[in-house]
Parts: sequence; structure tokens; C-alpha cells
Amino acid sequence: MPHFFIKTADISGDEIKITDKPTLHHLSRVMRLKTGEKLLLTDENQTSYTAEVLEITPKCIISKILKREKADHFLKTQLYLAQGVLKSDAQAFVIQKATELGVKGIYPLLTDNTVVKPAVIDAKIEKWNKYALEAVKQCERTDIPAVFGRTTIIQLLESGEFASVIACVERSQDETLKKALKNVKNEGKILVIIGPEGGFSKEETELLKNYEIHRVSLGKLILRAETAAISALSNIIYELEDE
Ligand code: SAM
Repeated sequence: MPHFFIKTADISGDEIKITDKPTLHHLSRVMRLKTGEKLLLTDENQTSYTAEVLEITPKCIISKILKREKADHFLKTQLYLAQGVLKSDAQAFVIQKATELGVKGIYPLLTDNTVVKPAVIDAKIEKWNKYALEAVKQCERTDIPAVFGRTTIIQLLESGEFASVIACVERSQDETLKKALKNVKNEGKILVIIGPEGGFSKEETELLKNYEIHRVSLGKLILRAETAAISALSNIIYELEDE
């Protein structure tokens, strides 16, 4: 069943009226939706509706709600990824995989070894959010992660937003991820930081140390940043997610 996102305001009694132009275009032009077909629609309050299409016009699609249920296709762990921005395809790949794994948000990080220019990063935020939305639909998530604006390690550490921060540092002798997770409670937001292709600079590693951030190893092998992100996120989910 095609899955789309709606606003709670689109619902009136037992009817849902979709007027959002990109959704309308996708449903009527790309998918060539017909009356009588069923849709799965989720609103921002995490309620999913199975609805039957009653009417299709150029301005709206009206459907009748057949079933309402609390949506639960999302990660309970409040997991966030800060990724040292990678070259184009690799960054898109990380956004797609992190979304499939259920992260709530992705921070594009400008680090000392980031080769992508700040203006290029800024120009890509909208596109990266579109990639995340495509991945959401593909994996049937019912919540949408945000790809935030460009930021830095210090800004994230100073934000005070995160209950736990785990930085994956290649050749780190400090801790394994497994060991670090023994001291991480699944409470509040958890941030995972991964470096860019060139890794973290000495100053950044020192900064993480000064902020007493867990600097963890993912093993003796040096992984591509994309692999490191998938490995770290998967292992954290394995350890912390209950359902
Ligand atoms: N250019 C660096 C070097 O040769 O040492 C490697 C950087 S690696 C390709 C990119 C990022 O992936 C790192 O900054 C780190 O965050 C993560 N990473 C890769 N392998 C890792 C490992 N074994 N343990 C922890 N983090 C790792």
C-alpha cells in the first residue's frame, strides 16, 4: 500500500483531503492513483490511517478513513548522527542508510579535514532532506528525520542537547564501542560523531578528550566513514533498542 505523509489539519471527521502539491503530483501523475485504491497515510502526531480514495481532482485527493492506529514504525532510541561531510555520493549514501536505521536527525559537520566547501554544504541541505524523505518512504518509517544545517563539533558539544555523545575515532586506544555502551543509558538524545574521509585532526581529538566524550574504536581496521557510520549506528541500536 503506498505510504504518504499528511498533516493532522488535512483530516476532517472520517475524511482526509490531500492538497499538498508534491504528494498530489506523485499520487495522481506518477502512481496514477485510481478511486477505490487504498493508501497508508501518517500524520505528524504519529497516527497512521488506512484510507480508501473517493475522489481525485487536480486540486485535491479525498479519501475515507477505514482504520486508524498509532504508528510505531520508528526507532524509540533518540539517536542522532553528526557526519564529517563526505564527498557527494558518500554523503548521500550515509544520509540514506542512517535514515533506514532510524536516526532522528543528521548533522553535516564541518571539520578540519572536510574537503567540501561550506557554501556547497549549505546548498545541499534541501537535497539531503529530500534523500532522507525518499529513504523514509522506502523503509516504511512513520517519522521523518531532519538533515540540519552545517555545524561544527564544538557547537554540538556546547549545545547541551545530548545526554550522551560517542565519537568514533580511528586508532583510538581509549575504549571499544561495546565497553562505552555499558555506561550509556538510553535516556535523552544520543549523538554519534563520525569523521570525514581524512579523519579527525589532532586538535579535534584533543577537543573531544577535553569534553570527556567517549572516543571509541570500532575495531583495528580502518573503515570508510560510511561503513563506520553504519557499523556504529547498528551496534548502538542492537545494544540499546528494546523492541
Ligand atoms: N584517513 C584516516 C586514517 O587513515 O587514519 C581514516 C579516516 S576514516 C576513513 C573516517 C572516519 O571513520 C573516522 O574519522 C572515524 O570517525 C571513522 N572510523 C573509521 N574506522 C574506524 C575505527 N576502526 N574505529 C573508530 N572509528 C573509525
